[in-house]
Parts: sequence; C-alpha cells; structure tokens
Amino acid sequence: MRRMHGIRNIVILTGAGISAESGLCTFRADDGLWEDHRVEDVASPAGFRRDPGLVQRFYDERRKNIMAAEPNAAHLALAKLDEAWDGELLIVTQNIDDLNERAGAKRVLHMHGEGLSAWCLACGARHPWTGTLLDGPPCPVCGEVALRPDIVWFGEMPYEMDRIFNAITRADLFVSIGTSGAVYPAAGFVQQAKSARARTLELNLERSQGSAWFDETRLGPASELVPEWVEEMLR
Ligand SMILES: [Zn+2]
Repeated sequence: MRRMHGIRNIVILTGAGISAESGLCTFRADDGLWEDHRVEDVASPAGFRRDPGLVQRFYDERRKNIMAAEPNAAHLALAKLDEAWDGELLIVTQNIDDLNERAGAKRVLHMHGEGLSAWCLACGARHPWTGTLLDGPPCPVCGEVALRPDIVWFGEMPYEMDRIFNAITRADLFVSIGTSGAVYPAAGFVQQAKSARARTLELNLERSQGSAWFDETRLGPASELVPEWVEEMLR
C-alpha cells in the first residue's frame, strides 16, 4: 500500500496487541484464560451472578493495572494522526484501557466497554470509576448498591455497533492493529470494509486468521509499525 492518496475517511480497529507493549494483558483465546482465570468465570453475566466478589476483585485489579500503565509509541502515533487528520477518523478499540485517550486521541470508541467506568444496573447510569467496586459503593445517581464493571462480557452485545458499521461503510481505509481477527463481530469488520470498497491494512505481530482478507499485512510490534504507518499517512 505505497500510495495512500485519495484517502479521506479512516476506521482503525485496535486489539490486545497494541496495549500488550504497555504491559496490559487481556483474554487469550488460545487457552481461554485471562490472568489465570477462566474467562467464563470473570467475563460473563453467569459468572457475575455466581460469584460477584470474584468478578469485582478481578476488575478492581484490572483498573489498578490500567492506571499504572503508560501509553506506548503506537498510542501516541494514533493520537497524532487523530489530531492532524482532516477527514473522518474513528479508533474502534476492543481494549478496556484508556491509553488512547491518555495519549491524546479524541475519536475513540470502546466497543467492549471501559475498565475505568462503572455501570449501575438499577438506574443505567455510567460513571468514571477509579476505585474499588468490591466493597459495594452506592451509585452516585440513585444510591442503590448495583454497580458493575462497564465491560461487555461474553454473550453481551458490543457497544455502538451501528455507529461502527456506519463509519466502516464510509471508510476509504480500514486498518486493523494488534488483533487476531478471530472474534466476531470485529472479525467481520474487514469483510464489511472490503464490500464498501475500502482499502484494508493489517498491522500485527504475526499473521492472523483474518490476514487473507486484507490487501496488505505488515508484521512486527505495534510500537514500530504504527508510527511508521502514521508518518506515511501524514507525509
Ligand atoms: Zn444508579
């Protein structure tokens, strides 16, 4: 993809690979574990009903790790692109950390929720949250003790799918960064982008199950590939 001119609207999908270099681990599909927990125990509505304390403790820990992590060169490069790009741009992240935002990006959509947000099951309000949920703090709006992590669990619908699909439909370029492409609905984005005649580029550590769908795949760490690609776009 040497010639990038003619591109105005960009959709970027990011996954675990971009935040792994900041020291954040996420669910690994190959063994079904997330920080040594079975994913169905800590990332499903049934797991939460069965053992809410385990789940709250798990996300309390994730919240601490997110706050201790720092954006890396890939997050900083995407923020630079977001700042400079005149056309439409949307960073759709599967990650629950706020490293894109802390790097300075504004056009970010968290399709799987946010680690630093709490969601009240009594009134539906969402609140920025940096403390613990384990000790049952009341909802700042309704006062009920009904806060859960604002995370999309397995079996739940990812957030803002309409907005994502609309952006992909208008995209001239779809870029996937650090994600295996194996989990739907994100895995379907590249196929949708191709049917909308967007160019498609994959930046990943290794070839993914979705690689065959992309016009071009570049292999390497996100902290190297993403700044290089952003420089090309802004040249
Ligand atoms: Zn509430």
